[in-house]
Amino acid sequence: MIDVHILLSVLWLVESSGNLHPPDGKAGEVGPYQIRQCYLDDVNNEYGTRLTLDDCRKMTAARWVTLRYLEKYDALSSYEKACRVHNGGPRGHEKACTLPYWNRCKTFLRAEGVDVCTCGEQKVRLHVNGDPVHMACPAAMRDLVAGKKNEVCQ
Ligand SMILES: [Zn+2]
Repeated sequence: MIDVHILLSVLWLVESSGNLHPPDGKAGEVGPYQIRQCYLDDVNNEYGTRLTLDDCRKMTAARWVTLRYLEKYDALSSYEKACRVHNGGPRGHEKACTLPYWNRCKTFLRAEGVDVCTCGEQKVRLHVNGDPVHMACPAAMRDLVAGKKNEVCQ
């Protein structure tokens, strides 16, 4: 499970460097989450709201719209899906063009103590006899225990 507070702070940092009143983007993106009209329309249609782009300049509304959008596309299951759908739309997590964005998000996630494996799972700290050894995702850990080489996880 992901921590939505961490997700929202990371998206805010990547979208507008943590700026409360960032300038509008080239494609008409506004506010701390750089929300576009089509993104907002999607949320308004789904939830029966009548929010405007101007509303999305305010933190509370921008966060509400972002979370509803990600919820609508079932994107809150992982940090990767959430970040890439926010950036690239409903199928953003399948598009290669959202990878650079996701890499920027990962840098900030690491700063928040969240390390995401290349397989998409969150890494946890491994302890051996109470001593922390290194960070690994569940699959890497399983393979490590089984003495198998894992080609996917880094
Ligand atoms: Zn992994």
